[in-house]
Amino acid sequence: MILDCAIIGGGPAGLTAGLYTTRGGLQNVTMFEKGMPGGQITLSSEIENYPGVTGDITGMDLMDPWPEQCKKFGLVHDMSEVVNVSKVDNIFHVTKEGSEVVEAHSVIVATGSVPRRAGFKGEDEFFGRGVSTCATCDGFFYKGKEVAVLGGGDTALEEALHLTKLCSRVYIIHRNGSFRASPNTIARVEKAENVEIIYNATVDEVYGDNMGVTGVKINLENDEKRDLSVPGIFVFVGRNVNNGVLKQENGTFLCELADGGQVQVDINMNTSCDGLYAVGDLRIDAAKQVVCAAADGAVAALQAMKYVDEKLHS
Ligand code: FAD
Ligand code: NAP
Repeated sequence: MILDCAIIGGGPAGLTAGLYTTRGGLQNVTMFEKGMPGGQITLSSEIENYPGVTGDITGMDLMDPWPEQCKKFGLVHDMSEVVNVSKVDNIFHVTKEGSEVVEAHSVIVATGSVPRRAGFKGEDEFFGRGVSTCATCDGFFYKGKEVAVLGGGDTALEEALHLTKLCSRVYIIHRNGSFRASPNTIARVEKAENVEIIYNATVDEVYGDNMGVTGVKINLENDEKRDLSVPGIFVFVGRNVNNGVLKQENGTFLCELADGGQVQVDINMNTSCDGLYAVGDLRIDAAKQVVCAAADGAVAALQAMKYVDEKLHS
């Protein structure tokens, strides 16, 4: 059997593509999601900018009903990691971990992004033992303790605010003299009583013992140093796109990429390869918002439906 559409990734973009393709009448649509559907927003302690959502809800609360809604229209969730997408004789080959190949007439890639490493000494050694990229997941381990947060974007500041509710003190270390997060979030951080902002500072090293992190050494302006005795540091320094599935055996990519590795698409989410669409955080110029990722998924689904119809019936 050849799928009408294979969707890689089950975040807001992939799930919305799944909803629109199945409800729009495509047959045999499978969404490959290596974990639980929902995507990176499920790690967020709070979402307040999804239209129509007025209560205090977590990212997990927001995403919880999405897979159920898709299932109602026939979307199949295959809980597998896809390792490669290629095109042979106008049919896509979706290779899963373990080498099983699934064929599809069209493919929507919605693999999103993963946290970037900052590159300081001890980051890899202590990852999961005091170095974390998820306050919602790990914040509880630092209840009543002091922690550090690295970064100055929306993620760093929002997650720092979450940590202020659990921890006695939150040091925000930022390499710049001002934050790039939204003004509303900056104002909340500046008002928080148990936050200390350390501007123009970089992390030199995270150190510790067999049990985990015990401190963070930072470089300040004018070559001054500071040592924070904290058992944990949360690193929020941006994200890298997951474009690996598009890499071909000869080292090229199935479609055109931009310099940062984001997939080049036009306004309809068409990539440079016919029948292949890229959506959400993965694509060039993504606004990196749940509502935008969802919208991309819908646009790509409408394109895929048209493409498959023309391919099979003309
Ligand atoms: P993702 O959500 O990254 O989903 C991609 C999915 O693909 C993942 O589930 C992953 O497991 C899966 N996947 C990846 N590779 C493979 C593979 N090879 N095979 C199978 N499955 C694969 N946005 C807002 O609008 N409001 C907010 O308040 C907000 N807060 C945020 C807070 C945090 C902490 C973070 C990290 C992000 C936040 N964002 C927020 C941004 C928002 O979460 C993203 O823009 C959005 O989730 C992008 O959706 P996506 O579907 O493109 O990708
Ligand atoms: P981001 O906006 O790219 O911010 C990354 C931060 O990390 C920046 O402050 C950057 O410093 C700093 N940084 C980068 N590399 C560093 C390094 N090696 N060492 C130290 N600091 C480093 O990433 P993000 O906060 O994850 O947000 C990603 C996208 O998702 C953004 O578009 C954001 O708006 C969106 N998002 C939105 C919401 C929301 O709508 N509520 C919530 C979360 C995320 P500089 O500032 O000096 O460059």
